[in-house]
Amino acid sequence: MTDSSDDFPRTPVAVLGATGLVGQRMVAMLAEHPWFEVVELLASERSAGRPYGEATEWLLAGDAPTSVAGMDVRAVGSDVDSPLCFSALDSSVARDAEAQLAGAGKLVVSNASSWRMDPRVPLLVPEVNAPHLELLDAQTEWPGGILTNPNCSTIGLVLALEPLRRELGLERVRAVTLQAISGAGTPSLRTAGMLANVVPFIRGEEEKLEVETHKILGELAGSAEAGDLRIDFAEIDVGAQCNRVPVIDGHMLCVNVELEDEADLEELREAWTGFSGAPQELELPSAPAPVILVHEEEDAPQPLLHRDAGEGMAIHIGRIRQRSPREVQFTTLSHNTVRGAAGGSLLVAELALASGVLSGLTMR
Ligand code: NAP
Repeated sequence: MTDSSDDFPRTPVAVLGATGLVGQRMVAMLAEHPWFEVVELLASERSAGRPYGEATEWLLAGDAPTSVAGMDVRAVGSDVDSPLCFSALDSSVARDAEAQLAGAGKLVVSNASSWRMDPRVPLLVPEVNAPHLELLDAQTEWPGGILTNPNCSTIGLVLALEPLRRELGLERVRAVTLQAISGAGTPSLRTAGMLANVVPFIRGEEEKLEVETHKILGELAGSAEAGDLRIDFAEIDVGAQCNRVPVIDGHMLCVNVELEDEADLEELREAWTGFSGAPQELELPSAPAPVILVHEEEDAPQPLLHRDAGEGMAIHIGRIRQRSPREVQFTTLSHNTVRGAAGGSLLVAELALASGVLSGLTMR
């Protein structure tokens, strides 16, 4: 992690879906955040009217932060004062709730899938496609804006792919996921159905990995003035197979890539270890440095041993093998509720703040 700067006063923020698994991560990561201060917590009617510490079945290590444990939870749909809202809402309610907030002039940073593929909504992994933030100018129907964080497996995949795309070009990607049970939300952690088991199906996940990768690795095109600001999707052949495995936290992907250019192992390692992007240049508080840790051990990376490196914001690559000078296979690992959800959206919000997007919206 880079040291934070004190360039900005702390911005008041609301967390929607604060009682869920991602919401809890968000609340925990925001407790000591130098730029943001949690002042509002929202969830369903079930939790509304109760202090956060009582309404939440805390599933992370330790207790809920004292700064928020006594704060009353309000129902989603009630008025929000904060200019910045983090959404960790169930996707069944996220679409309307987030649109309502954007309509009220708020900047929403969402973990839900509801708006990710909307042509006007940036789908951001800040190291990879920070220029896509400009797509916000296509959201002319409301005074606020919606930014989205990709699916938890997609984030790990594109962070592993982008250095190869930049240096060597990508033609074809095949990814098999081994996804932790925390990726299925709070209820999954209460069931024993995942013990000693693997489920070779996660509804909608394979489609998300494929189409979100095309959007994130695409190019910003057109202009707001001409009314045709858009993302031209990357033309890379991407295929995914997704599996739920009995791991608490940490999504692993076994990836096979066909490159445009030939490369040797050293060039591949250099592409990954030398990779950084806008968060590192801007020294954003949640930016990991390095972004990618390359493992030489024959049995790494592993969720239990490695997922927390870089405070859960770094990704890991290991088991690198070349099948030919243009074909490489490797294993990648990322923390699904940190880099793949709460921490990923924090980085998006930090990028938006550092880029002046939030102040731009309040002046619209
Ligand atoms: P979760 O543990 O099930 O939490 C869902 C949250 O949404 C809770 O705060 C819940 O409030 C609230 N909610 C549910 N129904 C609601 C309603 N009708 N009205 C208002 N609020 C409602 O789920 P999660 O794993 O944290 O995931 C949250 C979002 O992030 C989902 O959209 C998910 O797809 C996405 N996501 C999750 C991960 C992951 O690794 N888990 C990664 C990336 C993205 P109550 O507690 O009051 O019911």
